[in-house]
Amino acid sequence: MNKILQRRFVDQILVMFGRESKKPEQITERAQKVHELKRMTNKAELQAAKDAHRAHQEKSHKWRNRRWATLIFANLLFVVSFALDIQILEGALTASRFIGFHLIDLNSALQVMLAHKHIITNLFIGTGTVLVLWILLGGRTFCSWVCPYHLLAEWAEKIHLWLAQKKLVTDQPIDRRLRTVFWLVFALLAVVTGYTVYEAISPTGIVSRALIYGGSVLAMLWVLALLVFEVFFVRRAWCRYACPIGLTYGVVGIVSPLRVKYRLESCFHEGDCRKVCLVPHVLDTVIKGRAVDTEVPIGPDCTRCGLCVDACPTGSLKFEVKGLSKLM
Ligand code: SF4
Ligand code: SF4
Repeated sequence: MNKILQRRFVDQILVMFGRESKKPEQITERAQKVHELKRMTNKAELQAAKDAHRAHQEKSHKWRNRRWATLIFANLLFVVSFALDIQILEGALTASRFIGFHLIDLNSALQVMLAHKHIITNLFIGTGTVLVLWILLGGRTFCSWVCPYHLLAEWAEKIHLWLAQKKLVTDQPIDRRLRTVFWLVFALLAVVTGYTVYEAISPTGIVSRALIYGGSVLAMLWVLALLVFEVFFVRRAWCRYACPIGLTYGVVGIVSPLRVKYRLESCFHEGDCRKVCLVPHVLDTVIKGRAVDTEVPIGPDCTRCGLCVDACPTGSLKFEVKGLSKLM
């Protein structure tokens, strides 16, 4: 990795914790040449090329469909396993056993250990398995490929966008540093109270347990209130600005080899990708003049949902495994 990309890598980590993304101070020579070429291209020609791309683009939902199918399958496996007592997958997303292997959600394990103020060996083993799994699969991949709240919030987002298009609602963005503050507050609460306070309000755990065992009315009302808030006031509020689980898995994603990669040369800077992204700050590199190199990996806050890959009319965003050729 060259020095400029290394610097970008550190910047992306800071952006995940809430810092605003900034214009890069240094750009590689080869990327500067591409930026220069693009500046020299006649605007009318560029627009014609964009229009031609759009006209020929078939709306793809390939990654979205794969992801929804995986998410529904993973959550149904819990439900069916419990209902039929076949013990393939026992427990809920927070803590489970998959054909004998203990799997413990990283954020929950962290909260339990903070509440008990020591490292619990059994938790450590269960967490280790999950840690390796999510390092390999991409960290926040958990969010978009497994978390049941994500799917509900994605549907609520569609209603929000439809209402926004009719000018009935507007998105009210919140400071992204709030999520880091929430993470620290819930960690502190666990230490001080000795309870995993976050688990009581985590929509991930609530929806997962409700699907398997049936949920309490109060807990479901809380989830409903979150969704209503997201529809009428703040687009994807919980996942963007609050959820500590998302941040924990984002940190795991820092070292993950599975990621989305951006290619500058083929990009027309339409910005379709940023419109569909849950975390558009990770796609700042697609803004005209911002890419620091001709190929730039997308940062760890990316949920690997594939919506940008589906949306990009020029195929400039693709999944890849670091060190191997592109996936799709
Ligand atoms: S940010 Fe939290 S609620 Fe949202 S998808 Fe990720 S784990 Fe689920
Ligand atoms: S960058 Fe692409 S893959 Fe990552 S969260 Fe945004 S839309 Fe999804």
